[in-house]
Amino acid sequence: MSFSGYTREDLLEELIRLEEEIGRTPTKDEVQQLGKYPLQLYHSEFDSLKDAVKTADLVPVGQLTAMSGVNRALWEAPKDAFPTEISSLYELLDHWVCVECGRTLLSKPEQCGECGCTDFRFVSGGEQE
Ligand SMILES: [Zn+2]
Repeated sequence: MSFSGYTREDLLEELIRLEEEIGRTPTKDEVQQLGKYPLQLYHSEFDSLKDAVKTADLVPVGQLTAMSGVNRALWEAPKDAFPTEISSLYELLDHWVCVECGRTLLSKPEQCGECGCTDFRFVSGGEQE
């Protein structure tokens, strides 16, 4: 495969696109698996992915301390189960679905933050709905 048609800006834009898709700064593995460009391009253009992340004004992966439940789950998801569709991750995890608005949550809340409903349906991880 040839990647001669890219610019540094393309690489940075792709990082930002991934950041938006995942909801946080992508890791090396995610750049490799979900990105449009191979990780090596980032190394040859920016020394390291970390430098590219800095150049793109994203929060370095090591500084992502306040991860939400789903981000943490994504973080810890086994590599071979890594879903291409981020939303399908919920199917791998135990989760709760608000019966009123359909909001998906990883732990059962007192009340739905979206619609105020207190009725949730439990779906166990890996189960087909
Ligand atoms: Zn709701």
